[in-house]
Amino acid sequence: MRSQALIFLGAPGAGKGTQAREVSKHFSIPQISTGDMLREAVRNRSPLGLAAKAKMDAGELVPDELVCRLVEQRIGQPDCQRGFILDGFPRTLAQAEFVDRMLQAKGRGNPLVLDIKADRDLLLKRLTGRRTCSLCGELYNVYLNPPRVDSVCDKDGGRLLQRADDSEETIRQRLAAYEKQTSPLIDYYQSKGLLQEVDGNRRPEFIAKELIDFLGKA
Ligand code: ADP
Repeated sequence: MRSQALIFLGAPGAGKGTQAREVSKHFSIPQISTGDMLREAVRNRSPLGLAAKAKMDAGELVPDELVCRLVEQRIGQPDCQRGFILDGFPRTLAQAEFVDRMLQAKGRGNPLVLDIKADRDLLLKRLTGRRTCSLCGELYNVYLNPPRVDSVCDKDGGRLLQRADDSEETIRQRLAAYEKQTSPLIDYYQSKGLLQEVDGNRRPEFIAKELIDFLGKA
């Protein structure tokens, strides 16, 4: 894999996080998920978390400046030297321009952008049905991939929880924010010749295999 920076684009529910995790494991490069980092900041009640919480609960984007600072710090860590995956970032044109500047300043080449596309009714099912184990973080879906026992993790018996922003109203808001603020990035990267489309309607393991094959040759 030549490109050092991978960007996973896609609507909420497209499977960015799931795919980024597989690719991260396979190529031993870190997955940088701004959503996960922000949720951790909220849990720790850090100043960043306090500033971000209301926006996240409303399904709106957190201000560019906060997220860009977070990513810049993370990418400066030694484990990112061989490459990294940006999952859920950039999400606005300003963030994309920030990534360009950052990669250039660090003397890294262009990013490779994977745009995971999925139909809207599937996105809704994945988001409304999503549950996470409170102990190990394993993901389930009550419609598509239910646990053997309702609300209990198959692996460790942990209770399954719904993410705070997976309520129907917030999901609608997140999809609207994606359409308005993030989908313009598709044209942005396409016109630079950096975009690769991925069919996200299929089972996660098929998508992961295809992605890993593709990236191995890219
Ligand atoms: P999803 O893609 O499923 O909506 P994420 O876990 O990536 O979920 O993000 C959850 C929330 O965190 C977003 O709705 C937004 O409020 C905030 N967030 C994550 N990444 C960014 C970003 N790059 N810019 C602004 N806000 C972000």
